[in-house]
Amino acid sequence: MAIVKILGTAGARYVVAKQLRSSAGTYVEHEGTRLMLDPGPGTLVRMASAKPRLEVEKLHGILLSHAHLDHSNDVNILIDALTEGGFKRRGVLLAPKECLEGDTAVVLRYLRPFLKEIRVLQPETSYQIGKIRLRTSGRHYHTAETYGFIMELGGQKVGFVVDTLFFPGLIDYYRECQILILNVVRYKPHPSPNVQHLCVKDVEEILEAIRPQKAILTHFGMTMIRARPHQVAEKLSRKLGLEVLAAYDGLTLEI
Ligand SMILES: [Zn+2]
Repeated sequence: MAIVKILGTAGARYVVAKQLRSSAGTYVEHEGTRLMLDPGPGTLVRMASAKPRLEVEKLHGILLSHAHLDHSNDVNILIDALTEGGFKRRGVLLAPKECLEGDTAVVLRYLRPFLKEIRVLQPETSYQIGKIRLRTSGRHYHTAETYGFIMELGGQKVGFVVDTLFFPGLIDYYRECQILILNVVRYKPHPSPNVQHLCVKDVEEILEAIRPQKAILTHFGMTMIRARPHQVAEKLSRKLGLEVLAAYDGLTLEI
């Protein structure tokens, strides 16, 4: 059995800044391999307060989908804690090039040699961390270099459709997934082309095309919080005849 624990469900600046929902990352465990995906602000705190407590030093890997702070803020403290300040060289970091180079680099240089390995993510490429096999999607349409993930967990393909503007190619990237976890920041489309996030209508289109066994909505901006995510999920569920759930902070899926 695998576990996916969504520690935080906040997306977009306001919900994160006010901590209306937690902005912690998503914990994944499968056959003894433990990963943290997108450790936003509060990940370390939420790991310590989770029941049962999640031990940072037992993580095997950290994954960043992109460099935005609500996805990467705690990456440095996690590396420091995981490696006991560099005394134990361990852990793998998978991240897009933008997280590691140039003005957008979010991983502190002095921490990098503490890790056993850093792998730069490429589009549509397979990776193995311990017992977890995963594949990146093609590049998402987002204001940073962004890749989603398809992980093989408990015999199922679980797609993490992270921040992106909708485009038809998304459906192809995640088509084989039995479970989809989607970052739905917006209730309605944003008028500005610079806000590159999924809205509910986009999610409906994706779910209608893929028809997964289960879909989980997360990473909510203010318009989604106001619309009440569980009501949005219920409506989608009825309309599509699929199981659609809204995540809450700490939601644990057993797969
Ligand atoms: Zn983003």
